[in-house]
Amino acid sequence: MAAPRPAPDTMTEVPSEPSGDLRDVRDGLTSAEARERLERFGPNTLPAMRRRGPVARFLLQFHSPLIYVLLASAVVTTVLGDHVDSAVICGVVIVNAIVGFAQEARAEKALTALMAMTSTTAEVVRDGSLMTLPSTELVVGDLVILEAGAKVPADVRLLVADGLEVDEAVLTGESIPSAKDPRPLEGEVPLADRRDMAFSGTVVTRGRGTGTVTATGSATQLGLIHRLVGQAQGVQTPLTRKIAHFSRLITAAVLGLAALTFLIGVLRGQAVAEMLTAAVALAVGAIPEGLPALVTITLAFGVARMVRRNAIIRRLPAVETLGSTTVICTDKTGTLTENRMTVRAIAAGGRLYAVGGTGYAPDGDIVEMEGHAPVALDAHPALAACLTSALACNDAQITRGTDGWEVIGDPTEGALVVSAAKAGITSVPQRLETLPFSSERQYMATRHEDGAVHVKGSIERVLALCDRQLGLDDQREPFDHRAVKAVTELAEAFGRQGLRVLAFARAEAEASSTPLTRSSIPLTRLSHLTFVGLQAMQDPPRQAAADAVRACHDAGIQVKMITGDHAETAAAIGTQVGLHGEVMTGTDIDACPGDRLPGAVERTAVFARVSPAQKLLLVRALQSRAHVIAMTGDGVNDAPALKQADIGVAMGRAGTEVAKEAADMVLTDDDFASIEAAVEEGRGVLDNLVKFIVWALPANIGLGLVLVAAIVTGGELPILPVQVLWLNMTAVLVLGLPFAVEPRDDDIMHRPPRDPRLPLLPRPLVARIMFVSAILLAGAFGLFHWEQAHGASSAEARTVVVSVFAVTLATYLFNCLSLDHPILVRGVRRNPWVGAGVAGLIVIQLIYTYVPVMNDLFRSAPIGLAAWGRALTVAVVSYALVEGAKRCSTRTFAPASEHSRPGILKP
Ligand code: ADP
Ligand code: MG
Repeated sequence: MAAPRPAPDTMTEVPSEPSGDLRDVRDGLTSAEARERLERFGPNTLPAMRRRGPVARFLLQFHSPLIYVLLASAVVTTVLGDHVDSAVICGVVIVNAIVGFAQEARAEKALTALMAMTSTTAEVVRDGSLMTLPSTELVVGDLVILEAGAKVPADVRLLVADGLEVDEAVLTGESIPSAKDPRPLEGEVPLADRRDMAFSGTVVTRGRGTGTVTATGSATQLGLIHRLVGQAQGVQTPLTRKIAHFSRLITAAVLGLAALTFLIGVLRGQAVAEMLTAAVALAVGAIPEGLPALVTITLAFGVARMVRRNAIIRRLPAVETLGSTTVICTDKTGTLTENRMTVRAIAAGGRLYAVGGTGYAPDGDIVEMEGHAPVALDAHPALAACLTSALACNDAQITRGTDGWEVIGDPTEGALVVSAAKAGITSVPQRLETLPFSSERQYMATRHEDGAVHVKGSIERVLALCDRQLGLDDQREPFDHRAVKAVTELAEAFGRQGLRVLAFARAEAEASSTPLTRSSIPLTRLSHLTFVGLQAMQDPPRQAAADAVRACHDAGIQVKMITGDHAETAAAIGTQVGLHGEVMTGTDIDACPGDRLPGAVERTAVFARVSPAQKLLLVRALQSRAHVIAMTGDGVNDAPALKQADIGVAMGRAGTEVAKEAADMVLTDDDFASIEAAVEEGRGVLDNLVKFIVWALPANIGLGLVLVAAIVTGGELPILPVQVLWLNMTAVLVLGLPFAVEPRDDDIMHRPPRDPRLPLLPRPLVARIMFVSAILLAGAFGLFHWEQAHGASSAEARTVVVSVFAVTLATYLFNCLSLDHPILVRGVRRNPWVGAGVAGLIVIQLIYTYVPVMNDLFRSAPIGLAAWGRALTVAVVSYALVEGAKRCSTRTFAPASEHSRPGILKP
């Protein structure tokens, strides 16, 4: 848990609010009080869902058709008097349950850890200063600030509501946000009509509010509902569902086949016991019971690896989808750039000023670009006005933390606090009213006690509101066409240097000193403002951004920057990170006819002045071209686009709770490179799943074929049920596990994205599976008869059959470590579990073959070196044939050719 920040030495005060009754409580609780209440009433969390106890979960492991077959056969063998066999079967069933239980526990642990990481934070005032705390630390009486995009952290009695609207669908089912009003209500009012309350778990869609916490944890309205329904967190994905479905089908088919062979055999007059044994062996051998579990484990491991690379998966299916991503649409500010804003230049009163200093430390000089001498504010009233507007129309604070100065709030606004402080301006008249910034509106406005209104925002919006400008000596000048053009050109010049430009304006109090009241012009209808200047801030690209963009391009993934910022700024930053070409603006998007939009969007890499609604258009346009899209977002209004995208990516730091809720993935460091890393991991997971399945299926099919062959030819069984179980317990497990930790192929980011419409196993791989199954059939069945024909006992011949399977699966493991090129020593070197698995298997097989107890339990028998040689020959021939087939077959995953148009899936 992040500790509450030490009481910061704040530069500006907690944003002041108009309500009188707030002033009494505006310092919030003291931290001592809060600590005491937290101890007494407990954390602000909902009681965890009652999970099944370990015993129940263990018993559930026995709930599968295969186990039923095994238990039934254990009963039958007992009745038939074969106690050794039934004991072995029971032992295997129990070991199987323990392994399943352990695997499930690991997967669940990974997922619970995830849930903990997606916890939320709250803006709280304590000891008179604003801080961000984990929501779990809230207590009754805490003073919290609610802002558009926030999730209400507890039940809150509102004291102030500035255009506050809250989506209460989680509680009331009503999806239209309800407007809030702090005036107390009389009498009993149903939940949906409690205008004066904001309830835990609901989300703020607009405006701003302040209130005190009235209930936390399970005492909240959400807590009451939670107790009724609980929450289900599945570990299912389309892929695991498909695979579970596939294994159910196979299970049913194999059980049917087993029943059929039993019937036919008995009707043909063979012994009941013998046919029963054959049927059980068939069922046990051919059902791929380990498959679903290993798929889940592989996904869970993939998720854990992504966490280590700063991507938290909120919905498991995203892991698969990530691997097929063809387009990444990313924000600029904070994702491709660091979001560490520093004002570098100011234009006011027709003069240009340069700002010195680094970071958020309020040290550095403001000098005239011409004169290079530090300026005195008295001589530059326009500069003072520009800095004052920027500080007034501002919600950020800077504080000196343990590692230097930092911002609480929006970095863009923090930079403005800093530039004002560098000139010595640190306070402004009390604020009465706020129109918060939103990406659609592109400006923010505040009204103050002295009657002044301050506005800051994008130059397009702010200039449109101005009809005068402030001259060098504080005089009003006409803001005519030429003046506007000059300012616009200056802003574009700043933009070309990659600077983010904000424009400032103000409306003066009239000559009479009566403060403007609420009845004066609403902040949404401002006009006739006075333009006071520009501030241009630097936001350097992230170090890893350019490399990550290049990696995406190599991987056939298009990267598109989508920003609310100015076209010139967007283009300049785009060039710095490797995104070139024409810029398309929001206006261009609206002007583009619907049928031409997808093509235009496909060709463009940088989009500027885009509103959240247009993001949705972009996603749809790309999806109409069969793209799989990862889209980033942070604001409330980004939620629709995040939901529409195949993978919605929210920012863990800068993102609002609403965005995180709508997203499939959350970046803990907000870094573009983490998206690229997640895609890489996603591809790795899919790759490993395919490899594992290609490796695992031939064992089942081969065993099934050997048994069917034996039954059809009416001879002795080449392999007994306990021996099949043995293989399942040893070879399949010991050799299968390395797949879950297989590192990614080196070329994984040099291939085009996987077409999600293709089946998981393309035809060449299905052919390979059948081919290896056939080799196993020929080798095992053939050697069984050959050994007997050359004087071996049935026990010896069966031991050879088990050895054939074991060693062939081991060599085939190497075939499968790469699906399209040979890999032997390197395979062992990059994944030590491969070597360990193979070595372990050899030891286990030696024990199986030569230890007398094992001979008794599993009816195995010692075999000679020559027999080993024959088994090994099958394995080596199989290895060589598969490698040969790899060479001949058209490459399954052709590496991306330089000229292939990345990401275009349609022919
Ligand atoms: P981005 O995609 O870069 O995050 P935004 O939508 O946040 O873009 O910002 C768009 C424009 O709005 C910026 O270029 C800037 O001029 C203006 N702007 C950004 N933040 C603020 C703010 N806090 N207050 C006023 N205007 C802002
Ligand atoms: Mg922004």
